[in-house]
Amino acid sequence: MAQKPLRLLACGDVEGKFDVLFNRVRAIQKKSGNFDLLLCVGNFFGSTPDAEWEEYKTGIKKAPIQTYVLGANNQETVKYFQDADGCELAENITYLGRKGIFTGSSGLQIVYLSGTESLDEPVPGYSFSPKDVSSLRTMLCSTSQFKGVDILLTSPWPKYVGNFGNSSGEVDTKKCGSALVSSLATGLKPRYHFAALEKTYYERLPYRNHIVLQENAQHATRFIALANVGNPEKKKYLYAFSIVPMKLMDTAELVKQPPDVTENPYRKSGKEASIGKQIPAPEEETACQFFFDLNEKQGRKRSSTGRDSKSSPHPKQPRKPPQPPGPCWFCLASPEVEKHLVVNIGTHCYLALAKGGLCDDHVLILPIGHYQSVVELSAEVVEEVEKYKATLRRFFKSRGERCVLFERNYKSHHLQLQVIPVPLSCCTTDDIKDAFITQAQEQQIELLEIPEHSDIKQIAQPGAAYFYVELDTGEKLFHRIKKNFPLQFGREVLASEAILNIPDKSDWRQCQISKEEEETLACRFRKDFEPFDFTLDD
Ligand SMILES: [Zn+2]
Repeated sequence: MAQKPLRLLACGDVEGKFDVLFNRVRAIQKKSGNFDLLLCVGNFFGSTPDAEWEEYKTGIKKAPIQTYVLGANNQETVKYFQDADGCELAENITYLGRKGIFTGSSGLQIVYLSGTESLDEPVPGYSFSPKDVSSLRTMLCSTSQFKGVDILLTSPWPKYVGNFGNSSGEVDTKKCGSALVSSLATGLKPRYHFAALEKTYYERLPYRNHIVLQENAQHATRFIALANVGNPEKKKYLYAFSIVPMKLMDTAELVKQPPDVTENPYRKSGKEASIGKQIPAPEEETACQFFFDLNEKQGRKRSSTGRDSKSSPHPKQPRKPPQPPGPCWFCLASPEVEKHLVVNIGTHCYLALAKGGLCDDHVLILPIGHYQSVVELSAEVVEEVEKYKATLRRFFKSRGERCVLFERNYKSHHLQLQVIPVPLSCCTTDDIKDAFITQAQEQQIELLEIPEHSDIKQIAQPGAAYFYVELDTGEKLFHRIKKNFPLQFGREVLASEAILNIPDKSDWRQCQISKEEEETLACRFRKDFEPFDFTLDD
């Protein structure tokens, strides 16, 4: 696979010194041949107005190379970046946009996030929020084929990047930088990550993205921070490198470990409990998950005290979730999970679109760890299940729908709470209840009405098979399964004339759609659900 590598340049804060930069680029190109792209991180514009820019803007001068830049990091320069989705600023100079992915014709993938971290609401025009980071992660990491990206561009350094690495000089990475950027880098696994704003050059030793002996080898990440253009100390501000897009490389070549590779700075490694809870523990981060935002609050608190003691174990260390005995389609960390269907991730549970759902918004509430049924859930997981239920009720209600929920703990290994919205105009809650009772009777299934706030745990013994349906009023109808229960019962009733009247959809296998269609539905759900998403709350 002999692919001609792309030749790229990355640059730190330009701060309006366009001539210095472009003259330097010209000199380099004259000496060692042309480069394909120049990527600028940090402050591209200076804070004071300057005539130099006018010359580029009006075309009197021209950048000698296709140049891509990140947006503003302060109020003074917001005005230069009119279009949040990116735009051409001058000939050969393009603003990438607030956040997103740029895929070159070569297949090279560059993810960019403009601005500095902000936890304020509303988010200033020159900042990104936890939401921005989680949406980038969800957008990119939620497909099962996701391996990583070629390049990540951010202006701030990622917090803790110096951990396990060579010295970052005067920059204390436990205090400086953005924890959200660390989270992004953890999820995206860039092969190169460039940042600036600290007015210094730091090339960290490459770090690993996999856990040795626990996960298959993955490519390493090189983090490079660049100084400001034309700095008097002559610190490096321009970095030249060659890269073959990862999608064109074979795996063996891609995952070759450099001899000086180090531990992942953002991960707590086995014995060394040196990083606070703000960084996901290895077992929480397997296969690109999204836990980081949830620990964010804790992380801020902790770092503001400046204590990152090596010895103090965090008192609320979450237990490792239960593991399945074999492959499982629903354990979030397992490779079998169809990640493109995952639409929201909490601390203990997640939401995924049902495969072959009864309707477009048929979702499942699933525990992240391996639990067979609600009876086995620990209190903290139950609490989050309830939170998801309440949130989904509000979400569907806002769309003129009521939620029907059911669980079948029979011939299934991993708890799936099915949540199906039924249009209010379709029928009343009593109609739904009647339909379940009538159709159960027809099939000699004994459905018992159980008191509204009673817990399934009090009714079903661990290990006992059961089915129950929960109505939007909180009423539940419960059936203790002795033997032979129709697996599609819940679906059949909901699909029947009495409720949704889509009898041809009672078998999920008849409802399967293409992966592209599934992706589209998942994308739409994520977007629509966002205003209700409690996992984004502080
Ligand atoms: Zn499982």
